[in-house]
Amino acid sequence: MKKFVRAPMQRSARGVPPRKQFEGLRATELYCPICKASMPVRERLLLVLPEGDKYEYLCVRCGTSLGDKIVKEAPKPALII
Ligand SMILES: [Zn+2]
Repeated sequence: MKKFVRAPMQRSARGVPPRKQFEGLRATELYCPICKASMPVRERLLLVLPEGDKYEYLCVRCGTSLGDKIVKEAPKPALII
């Protein structure tokens, strides 16, 4: 029987979130006046409104709010009376 030997980490994965690639798919870039460049942003849930969830876009580098958006809930079938 072989014992499982933990191999030493060859590459340091520190600071590299494994979900980075996935997040990149939906990343949006907005111009940040602080960084003076188009920066990737992250969403932060601000408010939950009757018409949808309000998200704020924050610069990933300096955290400045670069905008917001309202994400409406899944569209419901049109109600026609
Ligand atoms: Zn910035």
